[in-house]
Amino acid sequence: MTSPRLPFMSLVPGDDAPAVKQAIDRVIARGWFVLGPEVEAFEREFAAASGAARAVGVGTGTDAIALILRALGIGAGDEVITTPLSAAYSALAIMMAGARPVFADIDSQRLTIDPDRVAALVGPRTRAILPVHVYGQPADMTAIARVAARFRLAVVEDCCQAHLATEAGRPVGTIGVAGAFSFYPTKNLGALGDGGAVVTNDGALADRIARLRNGGQTDRYHHQEPGINSRLDEMQAAILRARLPLLRAWTERRRTLAARYRERLAAAAVAVPPERDAGHVYHLFVVRSGARADLQAHLRAHGVETLIHYPVPIPRQPALAGVDPAECPEAARACAEVLSLPLHPALRVEQIDDVAATVRTFAHRGRES
Ligand SMILES: *Cc1c(COP(=O)(O)O)cnc(C)c1O
Repeated sequence: MTSPRLPFMSLVPGDDAPAVKQAIDRVIARGWFVLGPEVEAFEREFAAASGAARAVGVGTGTDAIALILRALGIGAGDEVITTPLSAAYSALAIMMAGARPVFADIDSQRLTIDPDRVAALVGPRTRAILPVHVYGQPADMTAIARVAARFRLAVVEDCCQAHLATEAGRPVGTIGVAGAFSFYPTKNLGALGDGGAVVTNDGALADRIARLRNGGQTDRYHHQEPGINSRLDEMQAAILRARLPLLRAWTERRRTLAARYRERLAAAAVAVPPERDAGHVYHLFVVRSGARADLQAHLRAHGVETLIHYPVPIPRQPALAGVDPAECPEAARACAEVLSLPLHPALRVEQIDDVAATVRTFAHRGRES
């Protein structure tokens, strides 16, 4: 296939390229590559941008989740309730910490974990809830916090798709005990490689995670507890510092383009995500269609690249066979219908209109479920 007229995304730096190159040069000139001044500065700057007291840079978003759970003392024999509709890493991180993921089905409208189903699954081994703000749509944290308080559970937020998102005006990552962020290149704030961070208002928890990410060392070569090696490197931290000042404008741009999609797709034979409040940061713009395969083929034939997030509910992944055989019919239905349209800050409004027009020409051929 020739390259699409409208690719799903481009990871080549644009307006930010000069600042990114300058950041890389600065790190090379300094000759300090792991746990140095760039990481320290980024931790301060990212905490401030996220509305949290502390941030701790780590190797990946997956590690961020696993390290929070470990720092909370959650591991073997414990259960963590999470969503079946996410990147599988959400659940894999729970398993990395030694605990068992238990899947509560999603709310069919919001597509995030259903708080009533969470409450129904709490058992004697349940220690925490891991909601995922999937696609950039915050989960119903008010209801989740109520369930957590009732059963004395920790809430750990997977914010890997939700940089700067808010729920009822509160920044994600600060509503529960801690939030995990990823800076994988495709995320709303991406590095030029892997990266992640934990944010929290709990200073002691931040200190413990800072130790655990570095082998459990207190002082150099003195290991207090068995940690892992999961550090954000200086190069990625410097690149993230160059990009962080642009994140708010990028997020506004995503929201503007999403609003344009919603307007242009109002009459199309697809279901578009409803706008609840200003909290959604549109990591992805996900429509639903009962004729998804045909819709995706139609768009591909017209040069529009789309992706599916995600084709399989996490508990149906072979890697999780036997972990929790939850059925999760709402998640299964979503996985059969969701389609992610191109959406990133560098897209022009005319390109959004172009994609939307192509979706509309499918209207007479496909039928919404
Ligand atoms: C990307 C992502 C992760 C994992 O982040 P990595 O940095 O790739 O380890 C976890 N959860 C969600 C929802 C993600 O989108």
